[in-house]
Amino acid sequence: MIIGRKIHINGIVQGVGFRPFVYSLAKRYNLTGWVRNSTAGVDIVANGDEQDMESFLHNLKVMAPPLSQIDNLIVEEIATDSFRDFTIIQSEALEDEFIPISPDVSICKDCLAELFDPSDRRYRYPFINCTNCGPRFTIIKDIPYDRPFTTMAAFKMCAHCKAEYEDPLNRRFHAQPVACPECGPQIWFEPAKKDGQKIEKEEALQAARHYIREGRIVAIKGLGGFHLACDATNPQAVETLRLRKRRSDKPFALMVRDVETARKYCFVSLSQEELLESRARPIVILDKRPDAELPSPIAPHVKTLGLMLPYTPLHYLLLEKVDAFPDVLVMTSANLSEEPIVFTNSNAKQTLDGIADGFLFHDRDIETRMDDSVTTELDGRIYFFRRSRGYAPSPIRFKQKLANILATGAELKNTFCLTHGNYAFLSHHIGDLENLETLRAFEEGIPHYEHVFKAKPDIIACDMHPDYLSSRYAHERSRAENLTLIPIQHHHAHLASVLADNHWDTMEPVIGVCFDGTGYGTDGMIWGGEFIYGGYAQFMRKFHLDYMPLPGGNAAIHNPNRIAAAYLWKYGIDWSSHIPAISSIQKDALDLLHSQLEKNLNCPLTSSMGRLFDAVSALIGLRTAVNYEAQAAIELENAVDECVHDAYAFEIFDSCISFSSLLKAILNDMYSGQPIETISAKFHNSIRNLTLLLCDRLSKETGCRIVALSGGVWQNRYLLRSTTAELRRKGFKVFIHHDAPANDGGIALGQALAANYIIKGK
Ligand code: ZN
Ligand code: ZN
Ligand code: FE
Repeated sequence: MIIGRKIHINGIVQGVGFRPFVYSLAKRYNLTGWVRNSTAGVDIVANGDEQDMESFLHNLKVMAPPLSQIDNLIVEEIATDSFRDFTIIQSEALEDEFIPISPDVSICKDCLAELFDPSDRRYRYPFINCTNCGPRFTIIKDIPYDRPFTTMAAFKMCAHCKAEYEDPLNRRFHAQPVACPECGPQIWFEPAKKDGQKIEKEEALQAARHYIREGRIVAIKGLGGFHLACDATNPQAVETLRLRKRRSDKPFALMVRDVETARKYCFVSLSQEELLESRARPIVILDKRPDAELPSPIAPHVKTLGLMLPYTPLHYLLLEKVDAFPDVLVMTSANLSEEPIVFTNSNAKQTLDGIADGFLFHDRDIETRMDDSVTTELDGRIYFFRRSRGYAPSPIRFKQKLANILATGAELKNTFCLTHGNYAFLSHHIGDLENLETLRAFEEGIPHYEHVFKAKPDIIACDMHPDYLSSRYAHERSRAENLTLIPIQHHHAHLASVLADNHWDTMEPVIGVCFDGTGYGTDGMIWGGEFIYGGYAQFMRKFHLDYMPLPGGNAAIHNPNRIAAAYLWKYGIDWSSHIPAISSIQKDALDLLHSQLEKNLNCPLTSSMGRLFDAVSALIGLRTAVNYEAQAAIELENAVDECVHDAYAFEIFDSCISFSSLLKAILNDMYSGQPIETISAKFHNSIRNLTLLLCDRLSKETGCRIVALSGGVWQNRYLLRSTTAELRRKGFKVFIHHDAPANDGGIALGQALAANYIIKGK
């Protein structure tokens, strides 16, 4: 019997080869009808034999193209019609409907094979792509996702490309960035010196490779911005790059030729290999092999390396194994210290003048800048340090419809979040808003996301901190557009973020352990070591680290030795010159610091866990001054001797956690010559024990058996692993982050979900 069905699918189903897939599947089962894109997804009308229809519907789900993601598939019975054939018909635009847009995708196997096939017409063409791979969100200017609305609009397809683009059975059918050497973008090379000759195409690539082999630094335009590249095996090149970038000790990311090369420098487990090779191609933080022969300035004072695999055709050409070219390159974001990544040709020339010796440019414009994502692997799953290229703007989907919310996020590592329907669109990494360029990216990024996802916020959620630039934006906009403003306390947002990340969909409270560097508290103090009991809509602060004075306020974070001194002062421990943190401060400065503390001049109080890590790191002489964020804590984690199981004691008075005896015990261990590695391990174990103890107490008090861990301190892999293992052993269900970073990059998601439930509760 011939039957008729209407099928509507939403999810990531456009720009991923979905219609050709439907087309060939329909042909296979002799169905007639049509398929089309709409602004709400993909619509199908099909007529055919009952059995065939069943197989068709089944395979729609199980054989869907690799980049697609079906969130919803609705089948309706309809009357049959007299179609002659199955066709792909014109897209339909629906008001107010929207579909998620695919993030950028690394080059696929088919394209890679063509890239190195001399008989292919795209042989060695750096912009080869298809419906399964290539740029997406970074080139989108407007919706629908169609070539004229991307930065590919400037390139007119040649007859050959057009034929592929229009052939439903070709893997480049409606691949918007499709191009070839005849009609598409091109690369060229320019030496930095003014009289340098511009070199084009293959010669440009070889010039860049020549520069790198000679130990020079090349700025290379990529997918989401420029990288600064040099030979990572050449100590002088690495040292020069560090000097020119004036970038402290912050580790450089590396690009390795392949997984085998990754194994040469790092330990790579199977799930880490999977992550490295995943389509998003993030930077993966891996443990460095002790025998890895790489210059130490790549990642000073740490035992890990951030590795990524090539992800564009250009990267594969660049790292080609010919002429003894190095198998590993430094590929660090091209920027000045903490400024955002450079992404236009003109800006690159200006900003990177004096840093790069040469430039490998191309003329496919980047519409939205995107940094590389930084990840690690935990229990076989991804754990984000920075969520950006390859992941954003993939939404997080919820069972329930969300209110229309814009959440403006935090001040540092900013991301923002927009909700529409069942989706929360967490933006790519924007950066530190105190930087003017970054602030502009924030202010321009929000309307761009609102436009492409057709999100119209009725509610704006922001941090409670009145001076965050993201909060000011929220305040101004809510006034100008008469939108409801909901400020969310920073650590409450962290808790809501990790709840959202675990698809928690009730108002039920859980035990939240939020450890980070800084967040504005409801009492106006700087919070950061918080045990809270709460859910999306409300929270109670149950325990927190003892308040300690932060001399000079947040400026103190550059000087862990001053934080250590303040901690000692607070607990009445002598400033002995045998303590490295004290001896590293000049006599005059020390006197000044003392009177500052005594007179309580500009010494805001903090309960920050991040500052406790800083203090301990300085106290034992590991890191007394830092030149990048969280350096003291990162190096303290690196020092952990995992064979040490001891821990220090701490005290709890009412809701306050005191570290008086812990600090004294650390000093004793230090005086008695205990290795730094032992002290660091004991300290980490103490924080784990503290978490276990207080979760137990809160569980007894509330009956709750769920613990949620959020905040930047939970990016400490040793602490996270050992705490989650112990909590689970005690029978707790533990929520950790999966799709959003544990640090302030995840705040916006939490703000959005908290606001959603607060509004619902009203
Ligand atoms: Zn491809
Ligand atoms: Zn062409
Ligand atoms: Fe935070």
